[in-house]
Amino acid sequence: MFIHITNAQVFAPESLGVQHLLVAAGKIVSMSPDAIDLGSIENVVTVDAEGRRLIPGLVDGHSHINGGGGESGYSSRVPTVKLSQYTGAGVTTVVGLLGTDDTVHTTGSLVTGARGLIDEGLSAYCYTGGYHVPCTTLTGSVRGDIVYIDPIIGVGELAISDHRSSQPTLDELLRVAADSHVAGMMTGKAGVVHLHLGDGERRLSMVHDAIAQSEIPARVFNPTHVNRNEPLFLEAMELTKAGCTIDITAYPLVEGDTGIGADRALIRYLESGCSPDHITVSSDGGGCLPQFDDDGHVTRMGVGDPRVLLDVINALARVGVPLEDVVPAFTSNVARHLRLRYKGVVAKGCDADLVVLNEDGSLWGTMAMGQWHVQDSQLLRLGHFENL
Ligand SMILES: [Zn+2]
Repeated sequence: MFIHITNAQVFAPESLGVQHLLVAAGKIVSMSPDAIDLGSIENVVTVDAEGRRLIPGLVDGHSHINGGGGESGYSSRVPTVKLSQYTGAGVTTVVGLLGTDDTVHTTGSLVTGARGLIDEGLSAYCYTGGYHVPCTTLTGSVRGDIVYIDPIIGVGELAISDHRSSQPTLDELLRVAADSHVAGMMTGKAGVVHLHLGDGERRLSMVHDAIAQSEIPARVFNPTHVNRNEPLFLEAMELTKAGCTIDITAYPLVEGDTGIGADRALIRYLESGCSPDHITVSSDGGGCLPQFDDDGHVTRMGVGDPRVLLDVINALARVGVPLEDVVPAFTSNVARHLRLRYKGVVAKGCDADLVVLNEDGSLWGTMAMGQWHVQDSQLLRLGHFENL
């Protein structure tokens, strides 16, 4: 079946004006500012976008697809994130990972979770490892996991500068990064180490040392949560000049929070003169969002939600930041850094992962691999067990 989308104002992410698209077999097979000649094609469903904005499906590079948490006792483990929590938030590609709990959760369960989402129509990848070293793996090595297991594209989220980390040494970090880098070369996968940054005052010093004292390319080191405090954010922006891509977490700020809101952080980054290609934003969906007192006790607990991504995009649109400047951090930058071919852009030959926005920024439609999951602001598909 062909899906013919007419009169969409396309941000690919660059602004292309009004375009008409033809989708088939999960791909964008044609895109043109002129009406597409459908000729003798049968089984065409035409959808008039009526001038709505159309952007690439969001690529969420940091999500606890199987549920994270467990930092406040056994009962605080977060449930699995369901299909519609992604598609209903405009997310069409997700990278799953393990965090604090890489004991009960395993690389095997994570790969299975990613495959489940793929079965349901999403594009899903994952990292091997978790907060701690030695990394939890499926084959016994980071290199083996990336080389042999399809959805695994790198390592993460490996924790540094955090009381929940395993306090890795520089040598331990370098060994993991070297394995991921070489496996990335062998496979064409990302081969990155996605680094969870905590509130610790060492901040990014170990990453600076790793780049200075080894031959591993800076792109391999990919710090996240860099907007959690001002000094860390300043260091992270500086680090992009060495070639690293940094990731902002779109967590909602609460009173007394020392973090920088993702909208504010992205504006500051884009105005800083740093490369606009080296910044991404992720949701930490399904992750627990604890706050700690000085003794390391949890004082407050929230759960990450993929919906924050669209909230940030709309917050930036409301203050007049052009959509084509905002969207890359949520789409093409993530796909490029993680070497996800055919993802993160609206172009002929790319996967038909699309988001259509209403005038007020709310979601009109989500198409994942050529299938509508949300259309006319209605959820059309649910994952297994979602309707119970
Ligand atoms: Zn984290």
